[in-house]
Amino acid sequence: MPERPDYYKVLGVGKNATDEEIKKAYRKLARRYHPDRNSGDKQAEERFKEISQAHDVLSDPEKRKAYDRGGMFAGIGANGGFDPSAFASNFNAGGGFGDILSNLFGGGGGTAAGSARQRSGQRPPQARGRDLETEVRLSFDQAMHGAQVSISVPTSKPCPTCNGSGARPGTSPKVCPVCNGRGVQPQSQGIFSINQPCPNCHGSGTVIEHPCPTCEGTGAQHSVRRLRVNIPAGVRDGSRIKVAGKGEAGVRGVPPGDLYVITRVAESPIFKRHGDNLEVEVPLSIPEAIRGAVIEVPTLSGSKRLRVAPGTKHGTVQRLRGEGPPHLSGKGRGDLRYRFVIDVPASLSREQSEAVERLSQVIDGDPRAALFPDGRPREKAGER
Ligand SMILES: [Zn+2]
Ligand SMILES: [Zn+2]
Repeated sequence: MPERPDYYKVLGVGKNATDEEIKKAYRKLARRYHPDRNSGDKQAEERFKEISQAHDVLSDPEKRKAYDRGGMFAGIGANGGFDPSAFASNFNAGGGFGDILSNLFGGGGGTAAGSARQRSGQRPPQARGRDLETEVRLSFDQAMHGAQVSISVPTSKPCPTCNGSGARPGTSPKVCPVCNGRGVQPQSQGIFSINQPCPNCHGSGTVIEHPCPTCEGTGAQHSVRRLRVNIPAGVRDGSRIKVAGKGEAGVRGVPPGDLYVITRVAESPIFKRHGDNLEVEVPLSIPEAIRGAVIEVPTLSGSKRLRVAPGTKHGTVQRLRGEGPPHLSGKGRGDLRYRFVIDVPASLSREQSEAVERLSQVIDGDPRAALFPDGRPREKAGER
């Protein structure tokens, strides 16, 4: 029997690690050894596959339980995405597997397909391949204009050596002797009869006595699939893009799952996203704010001239409608908002100082009079 990989060691977690810890460790390692970051590095790719496999097993409570129970991989293969019963050719090729089951069930099953369904206990037949999820990093520009990016997706397909059965070639999974292939164990409690998953085969109805040396009995081969994905213009940090049909392959004619791409968008030093709009902070000099001006401001496609009204106050927002990020629906765009901030110099040259002095002499009136509608309590006292 091949040596059993220590999935806990692979992820660098303890045997009692929580789901959250496993997820965290996986994410960290997957990021480090991701083929996108280690282009052409075979060792990193191998490590990435190992990590994916360990996560695949430890993140699934049933698979983990089976794995913890020690040694055998039968439970893993049987309960995982590669249900051996789904690979009809394996079972039927041996000849009469359906017959054996029909006999066991007193002929109730009839056809091999019917038996297979029965054998899988209460589990519904797999309707489609698993959905997959992956992250992609984008620059701010890519997010705004859309991009075609290449991504690597950890995936698994039926092991070519055993065709996904998990059993060494020349052998086949055996009917579980404990439950006679039923996958469940009836337990009588008074008048009720409760069906528990069979502890020996974990509900699959079959056990693998001689695991396939290639996949160690899991029936699955982990691999990395490279895809080119079109990222629509306007995505945000954390957008979830569905790529239909690019998830894990379905087995035995069922459709494949979907792939979800989560976008991680770099921040722009200029454009800040606020919902469907972008905001840009635009400094104005004191004369520009007072006299108004025509200034150049950045847009997503270059720049535009903007008329600033005389007497513009600090914090005033002016917007360019429909110049913001494209809506993901494909129709229309958000706004570009320019928030003016008055640029107040921290220190002045002598000349500037004199100019401000002259200004203060000609701008009179009390700018804070409105704060004291009844007159100041200490009128004329201690004026600074
Ligand atoms: Zn059993
Ligand atoms: Zn195999």
